[in-house]
Amino acid sequence: MINLDNLLRKNIKSLKPYSSARDEFQGEASVFLDANENPFNAPYNRYPDPLQQLLKEKIAGIKNVPAGNIFLGNGSDEPIDIVIRAFCEPGENNIVAIDPTYGMYKVAADINNVEYRTVKLSENFELVSTSVFAAIDKNTRLVFLCSPNNPSANYLDVSEMEKIIEGFEGIVVLDEAYIDFSNHVGFLPKLSKYPNLVILQTFSKAWGLAAIRLGMAFASKEIISVFNKIKYPYNINALTQEYALKILNNDEQKNKWVKEILANRKLLVDQLSNISCIKKIFPSDANFVLVKVDDAEGLYKYLIDNKIVVRNRSKIALCAGCIRITVGSKGENEQLCMALKQYSLNPG
Ligand SMILES: *Cc1c(COP(=O)(O)O)cnc(C)c1O
Repeated sequence: MINLDNLLRKNIKSLKPYSSARDEFQGEASVFLDANENPFNAPYNRYPDPLQQLLKEKIAGIKNVPAGNIFLGNGSDEPIDIVIRAFCEPGENNIVAIDPTYGMYKVAADINNVEYRTVKLSENFELVSTSVFAAIDKNTRLVFLCSPNNPSANYLDVSEMEKIIEGFEGIVVLDEAYIDFSNHVGFLPKLSKYPNLVILQTFSKAWGLAAIRLGMAFASKEIISVFNKIKYPYNINALTQEYALKILNNDEQKNKWVKEILANRKLLVDQLSNISCIKKIFPSDANFVLVKVDDAEGLYKYLIDNKIVVRNRSKIALCAGCIRITVGSKGENEQLCMALKQYSLNPG
């Protein structure tokens, strides 16, 4: 059992959050003279709902999680930063994370002056819980996991993740940005079982909404209320809330996109496996594939010269010679494969 009071930073435990006009008055009124807003330019003259209740109710229905267990942020970036600021005393506490993984966790830790410890995945990018526990000490407050993992694209072993969530006495942050592309259901159905679990999801990938900056965190009501205390009062602007509500009314569209992207992933993998410069294709539970090539640097530059951008991951742990390729439209994938075939004829 975790004790939130012992895990939270002291200044956060005692923090009295900013109380906005919208927090102080909730109810029906017709004359709003409480927030120094401009009476003209409705509806954008008004501050947005600081807790995004309508949007959370909608998401609650889709995700089957109570609205009180949902936090919305300016992308996943915001909850990644807030969870560190809530639990990690700078210069004292530390974070343990898998390696390789998404680069933002380390950047957020560095900005907050919190030590970031990495634990290598196995050669096949599998999670080894005993290695994670070996890196944890009495000052570890957070463990970051990402499943399906970026850039390796694989879904991590469920029982290894459970061992960590159950055995670690701090907070486990599980980033499920790519869960919609996976056959696994993820950990949302088990959220109520784990009071120390924070699950991150996003509208930036399957929902096609990277531009509006909207990320979700799911956790216990207690953790969510801590996040609400720390966030900027109006962290999700009215345009984002409005547009997200509109798109969420049509989750059939999202499912269609996911289906098409998965079909395109299969086609892309089939094509890549017949191109000689591609030495290895790692299995993918996400909307991208990681491939190994002979000369990642050279290939990356060749593709840039052909106006095609992929991600060179060859400098990060376990990814020597690796390129990460997003699954695009059929046409985009074909352009990539044509260029790769050309390159294979005359590499470097
Ligand atoms: C793309 C991605 C995100 C999304 O971040 P946003 O800030 O929500 O756009 C989160 N986590 C991982 C691992 C990602 O690859």
